[in-house]
Order: sequence, then structure tokens, then C-alpha cells
Amino acid sequence: MSRLVVVSNRVTLPAKGGAAPAGGLAVALQAALQERGGIWMGWSGKSSGTKEPEPLAQQQHGNITYALTDLTKTDVEEYYEGFANRVLWPICHYRLDLAEYGRKEMAGYFRVNRFFAHRLAPLLKDDDVIWVHDYHLIPLAAELRQMGFKNKIGFFLHIPWPPADVLFAMPVHEEIMRGLSHYDLVGFQTDHDLSNFAGGLVREGIGEALGEGRFTSYGRTFKGGHYGIGIETAAFADFARKAATNIMVRKARQSIEGRDLIIGVDRLDYSKGITQRIDAFEHFVKANPGYHNKVTYLQITPKSRSEVPEYEAMQRTVAEQAGRVNGAIGTVDWVPIRYINRSIGRPVLAGLYRLAAIGLVTPLRDGMNLVAKEYVAAQDPDDPGVLVLSRFAGAARELRGALLVNPYDIEGTANAIARGLSMSLEERQERWRGMMDHLLERDVMRWCDDFLKDLQG
Ligand code: UDP
Repeated sequence: MSRLVVVSNRVTLPAKGGAAPAGGLAVALQAALQERGGIWMGWSGKSSGTKEPEPLAQQQHGNITYALTDLTKTDVEEYYEGFANRVLWPICHYRLDLAEYGRKEMAGYFRVNRFFAHRLAPLLKDDDVIWVHDYHLIPLAAELRQMGFKNKIGFFLHIPWPPADVLFAMPVHEEIMRGLSHYDLVGFQTDHDLSNFAGGLVREGIGEALGEGRFTSYGRTFKGGHYGIGIETAAFADFARKAATNIMVRKARQSIEGRDLIIGVDRLDYSKGITQRIDAFEHFVKANPGYHNKVTYLQITPKSRSEVPEYEAMQRTVAEQAGRVNGAIGTVDWVPIRYINRSIGRPVLAGLYRLAAIGLVTPLRDGMNLVAKEYVAAQDPDDPGVLVLSRFAGAARELRGALLVNPYDIEGTANAIARGLSMSLEERQERWRGMMDHLLERDVMRWCDDFLKDLQG
């Protein structure tokens, strides 16, 4: 079996004793790397300031070599904060209005991809299989090809891929599309993302869809497919079962005093639909007086990307909104919304999901949304909660037992909350069973195997 080389913007080092376990993606990639032997290369997350970064820092753990590089301050600003997070992220989440395109940032993005390729090259063997992850590194294969590498190179995009009219508003769409053509396999989360990609390619005359998942563009032929990422379903269900004894989970249970718990868990990001969700909750309470003092909505929202102005502004907006709604509908003995602005470890999160009668997952656009899958995996089979899920999350293509909502439709989402809270045990169990079977079958290990099989096939 060929060695595997994984390249991603950030690298997850193995958890030290007592540290929080890594997320499902890291677990799956580490397992694949451990089995075949391999390298995981990426940015250390550190800046070398104005100095040229030191040579790659390598650490060996079992069969895996972790290879990390620092980036200069300018690289971080242009490649990461600039082009990746302020152009590609909003564009891929259909937010043309938030994309701030600058030539300097785009040059920085391509420069850092070239730098990654040059740092990786001395470590590569001829028959290595290379798997590149996510929107930060689209041009990496083109850079490696230019240096003469003929290896199998696959790319997986963890975020959505937009329709042609959105993508082509980005001034450098051509370079990005050309970058993708240098892979042997380009993987998306859903059939919708893949068809957006194919549609753009064909409509703009860049290439052709040859059928059976094969494409041609810029003189190259490659495969495209969709591989919805999974979670470590069985392990997560196990966390949730064991979490009942966790002190934080016990305190949370006591403090809700028998009320129904509604839970939302999202990084603070404009794609997650948090303000619309709070509006929907307020609407639900106002329209259903019987639920006054009978529900608690817990929104866990760790800060993210605070260096990007939209994110900083959002932090204020959401905190103010939660305060305003509590002021408007709360009473002396009832705080309807509990808003937590920091990160909670996944074992505790699993216990909180299990306590919740409703998992409220309403992004305006999301590649997959793992929270939706984790919420389902964490439920008690004897008394499962209801997932209220945005139709614009990739997870909605798979989790057919959820109550699907349009997150822009505040009343519709409020109605789904009411429907979920009053759903019979029988219906809840039936919906949950179907979703859980799917998640057990298509877990993150399966996702990893499917992608690698297609890449090497
Ligand atoms: N998460 C966490 N602690 C928190 C909030 C989130 O560990 O306080 C985890 C969550 O369990 C999930 C991931 O962060 O595994 C979020 O993934 P998702 O696909 O939902 O959204 P993303 O943040 O990648 O856009």
C-alpha cells in the first residue's frame, strides 16, 4: 500500500494524556496515516514575524511524521486572514456581499501555496498518495505538478461550492478552477456542491463533464465526486452515555429544573444563522404562551476569527440580541436564553446534546455541519430528541429524519420548534433510528476509505 501524505492548513497533533480528544476528522486521518505510514504537513499556527520561517519542524508518532511550518506575519495576513477567510470563505458560503477581494491577498495565497509545495517536495516519494484538504490549499497540486510531481493527488473541500453566478463574481475564479483541474480527484460534501461545480465548468465553457464523475478542463482529465464527511458515531454515542455523570452535565440538568432544553452549538460565524435562530426562538415563545417558563435555549458559541472585522462585529450583535430577548420575554425566575461565548469540550458537549429535547441547527449555508450529526449520535434511544435542521446544511442531504427548515423563514423555524417539542415518542424514535443507522454506516472512517479508494482507483 502506498504511503499517504495529508496536507491541510492546520495539523492536529495527537492528544497528550488528559487533553481533549481530537475531532472526528483528525481521528480518521490519523488512523489512515498510522495504518499506511505517512506524513501530515501544515501550518503550525505560529508566525515567524518578518523573518523567513525556520525549516520544517518534524515530530514522529508511531508511523506518522508530523511536519509543521511557521508562516511570516505577511503570509498569515494575506493567505489566511485575507484570501482564505475574506474571499474564499464568504464566496463559498454564497456571501458575495462580504467578499473583500484584493490583489495583494490573492498573490499572498498563491505565494504561500508555492511555499508549502517547496517545503513538502523534499519529503515526497514517487508513489506517495497525496491528500490535500480544504479551501486554503486549492493551488497546491498545480504547484507540485509544476515541480514535476506525477503522484496521485486528491482534494477534499470541507465547505460548500457555490453556483456559477456566485463563483464567477470572484475576480480570480479562473485561477481557482484551473487549480482544481490539477488534482486526480476533487471531492465535495454533497451532490449539490458537485453539481454546482460541474454546472460552472460547463456553463462558462471551461471544460466538459464526461459522465461517470469524470471531467476535463485546462487540458487535464480528473474525477469529481461527493463524499459527505461523517463523525465517529459509535465513539460519540459512547461519550454521551457516559457524560451523565459528568459534573458540568449534572449541573446543567439541575439548573434547567425540568424545563425542555433546546441546544444550539456553533462557532461564531455569519454562516451559522445565529441571529435568525434567536429571532425564531423569540417568535416561538411569543406564539406559544404555554411554553413560558417551560423551555431553556442554550446557545454555545465559541469566538472565532476575531481578526476579521465581520466576526468581531457579530460578537457584539449576538450578545446584544440575546440580552434583548431575555429582557423582553424573561421573568424574575426564568432566563429563556443562556448564551455562552466560549468553547466546551466534546465529551461535555455530548452530554448536553443528550439532555436537549431539540437540537437547533440552522445555518444559512454549511458544507456539512457536524453538530447536527453529533446531536443525533448523542441521543438516548429510549427517549431521543428532535433535530431541527436547515435545508441549507450539507447534513440535510443525509439526515432525512430531521425537521427541515428554511432558516430565513423565522415563523417556519418557530413552528418546527413547537412541532418538535410536541412530537410523540413513537415518531421521535422512528425518525432517530433511521438517522442513527445512516450515521453508524457512514461514519468518518468510511468517508476516509471511500475517498482514498476513488483516488487510487
Ligand atoms: N465544538 C466543540 N466545542 C464547542 C463548539 C463546537 O468541540 O464549544 C465542535 C463540535 O463538536 C463540532 C465542531 O466543533 O465537532 C464544529 O463542526 P461543524 O461542522 O458543525 O462546524 P464548523 O465549525 O466546522 O464550521
